[in-house]
Amino acid sequence: MMKYVSTRGYKEELTGAQAIIQGIAPDKGLYVPKEIPKLPFKAEDMIGRSYKEIAKPVIGAFFDDFTDEELSYCVDEAYDEKFEAQEIVPLRKVNGAFFLELFHGKTAAFKDMALSILPYLLTTSVKKEREDKKICILTATSGDTGKAALEGFADVEGTEIIVFYPDRGVSEVQKRQMITQEGKNTHVFAIKGNFDDAQNGVKKIFNDSDFGNELRASGVKLSSANSINIGRLVPQVAYYVYGYIKLLENKEIEQGEHINVVVPTGNFGNILAAFYAKKMGIPIDRFICASNENRVLTDFFNTGEYDINREFYLTNSPSMDILISSNLERFLYEIYEGDTKAVKGLMEDLESKGRYCLADHVKMRLKSFYGGCADASETVESIGSMYKDSGYLMDTHTAVAYKVYNEYKEKTGDKKAALIASTASAYKFAESVAQAIGLEEESSGFEYVEKIREKTGVDIPRGLKNLDKKEILHKGVIEISQMKDTVKTSVK
Ligand SMILES: *Cc1c(COP(=O)(O)O)cnc(C)c1O
Repeated sequence: MMKYVSTRGYKEELTGAQAIIQGIAPDKGLYVPKEIPKLPFKAEDMIGRSYKEIAKPVIGAFFDDFTDEELSYCVDEAYDEKFEAQEIVPLRKVNGAFFLELFHGKTAAFKDMALSILPYLLTTSVKKEREDKKICILTATSGDTGKAALEGFADVEGTEIIVFYPDRGVSEVQKRQMITQEGKNTHVFAIKGNFDDAQNGVKKIFNDSDFGNELRASGVKLSSANSINIGRLVPQVAYYVYGYIKLLENKEIEQGEHINVVVPTGNFGNILAAFYAKKMGIPIDRFICASNENRVLTDFFNTGEYDINREFYLTNSPSMDILISSNLERFLYEIYEGDTKAVKGLMEDLESKGRYCLADHVKMRLKSFYGGCADASETVESIGSMYKDSGYLMDTHTAVAYKVYNEYKEKTGDKKAALIASTASAYKFAESVAQAIGLEEESSGFEYVEKIREKTGVDIPRGLKNLDKKEILHKGVIEISQMKDTVKTSVK
């Protein structure tokens, strides 16, 4: 059976269900599969299959402690009419690139891919493990995770969900989506800080064992809906496998042909899922990691040094305004080939000095990655020229990826087919998108939504319609120091 271990070497080995419930390991490490499973099928044999038919065996390879019935239940409940695209993840060929559209779920960002299944994985795990406590999901968000987690967990029995978002640093649409969330178990707070502050605050609460014990005594157990939870990551592997099979099906590539993937990256979860897909057996040649002005990862892939001692920027791709990419720790575990002592050392350096440097022999293992970045004006330019050339509308994050992809092609001449992870609907970042396609300035973010629709004819996602007319239900704004108390009063 698959075993999950902490990246920092904590002795205990867990099953998938246990790792999903735990969220984060007691030594602050992240749970990783001890060994990445191989694909349970040949890609070419899956041509013509639906998203669910591909996702189920991929997820099942990681969570082999789930029965066939349990897996079917989770996958069937997750990937249904909540998605506005019948194929769940449409693949669009534009200008010779392949956009894997991951944003057709309820909240119009790719986070729905994992967060529409996580509540089912978690409640099933709770049943399997006979956990009798109420599960309280703590979530830090740079804008999209929060809403997707709220939608996923709203009114799910036996759970409470608390979301912390940075007061300034999410788009107007993102904020409105969260503060109008219904559901009696939902709690949403703005914090006076940025995403890294929110994420650190949440991690601190997880690592406070006294607080954990106090909550447990009152019948509550904390868990996470951030991509530090392995239950978030595994469902994301499925769409890269699916994307590859679709390329085969559409005869864009031949059996066994290598491809590249391009991912707009923040917390490093999405691109790590692509890396896991490769380890399972999908022939991916290069991972093109795209960042905005917060280019820590670009520098990391160019130098082997990770350094957060730098200015933090609020950009027009706010879901990537991150300096501490949590899931990089899981990647380090892979390139250090399971040397948990080394990973722990690097993480301690990061905590104490804000930087770490890879060992020389490990730096060489970064070769399959290419790091690049785009600033705000390049992002807007990229959206504008794409729309003019082909009528295709990208959101700001996908535009960062597309810009870096073009730069990569120019620099390397690499012509392999590339899957571009298309992570959000353009409407979520309406103001920047409107500017990019030459619309005039409006007084509120919501007016841009209607103006973009008039000009482009692209449908507004269901969840974003009439957002400005919904009642605001969550008004709390708190200091970072109040996060713990806020958790306590919310779960009461
Ligand atoms: C979360 C998010 C990202 C970054 O994904 P990671 O898995 O954190 O690297 C990129 N784009 C959008 C729209 C997002 O919501």
